[in-house]
Amino acid sequence: MAEHFDIIIVGGGPAGLTAAIYARRAGRTVLLLEKEGFGGQIASAPKVENYPGFAAISGAELADRLYTQAESLGARIELEEVLSVTDGAAKTVTTDYDSYTCTALILATGMKRRTLGLDGEEGLKGVSFCAVCDGAFYQGKDVAVCGGGNTALQDARFLAELCRSVTVIHRRGEFRGDPMLVEELENIANVKLMTFAQVTELISENNALTGLKIADTRTGEIASLSVDGLFEAVGQLPEQTVSRSLGLAGEDGFLPCGEDCVTSLPGIFAAGDCRSKEVRQLTTACADGACAAVAAAAYCRRT
Ligand code: NAP
Repeated sequence: MAEHFDIIIVGGGPAGLTAAIYARRAGRTVLLLEKEGFGGQIASAPKVENYPGFAAISGAELADRLYTQAESLGARIELEEVLSVTDGAAKTVTTDYDSYTCTALILATGMKRRTLGLDGEEGLKGVSFCAVCDGAFYQGKDVAVCGGGNTALQDARFLAELCRSVTVIHRRGEFRGDPMLVEELENIANVKLMTFAQVTELISENNALTGLKIADTRTGEIASLSVDGLFEAVGQLPEQTVSRSLGLAGEDGFLPCGEDCVTSLPGIFAAGDCRSKEVRQLTTACADGACAAVAAAAYCRRT
């Protein structure tokens, strides 16, 4: 017979781990399921500088602290991929390893990375999606970072300490990320900010990246840039596998629900970047985790 929990949380990012902390403190039995690695997007952030209480902390350390806090409060945490969820008074959650039931379910499934969709992008040596993981391979080399958000800007700052040169390639004139970070990069000698620029082609030799073709987004003019590495940081798309199977995902792929994290299905809650919202930040993900857990615990008490 499947093991039963008051609350099952799908996703081990900041939203899911915060939900686990709050649900345990509310006295509920909790299972948190994560398919890849704990901490979500922050796990690969070189430095987090906007989380209250920490002037600066590495994303990996913050993720580790969240995990330890949830686990020490008694949340059961498993590295298993959720394959399906059956809705009902008791919900059945089937993973690649086991099946569980719960009274309330919190979806904190986050986002998955967007790619540029260029020919040869997948599997080409020199194309990376994680500066913290792969930066060391490019010591003393020339690299480019594509994107204009905080991930791209932080990656560029991190890589500038390792690489000979870092070119940030952004498709618009204005960066989406924090102006303070842009200003910081403008003052780093080996960083060049290239705006109105879009990577259109990867140039390679022997299955290794050697350069990029870059289009001017105003004129269409094409230029070439020699690089040993390209770090893609062009944002995220909602992870929809579970929400689609429940018929919950909206047209844009996000779970429609408000600040209370209550979805249209009784006993199912959504927290963090996977839900429709204006501000997707670490702090708002944690806030959602708290709201969803409080709502889920109240649902368990009523049921
Ligand atoms: P993001 O803010 O959505 O930025 C994605 C960037 O990629 C945008 O500049 C976008 O350009 C560009 N882009 C999207 N599709 C593209 C394409 N096909 N070709 C070229 N460029 C493309 O994503 P993010 O940087 O991953 O950040 C996600 C969230 O996490 C944000 O809210 C961010 O503030 C937050 N974050 C926080 C921290 C922290 O330390 N607290 C660190 C990293 C990220 P446009 O601007 O033209 O749309």
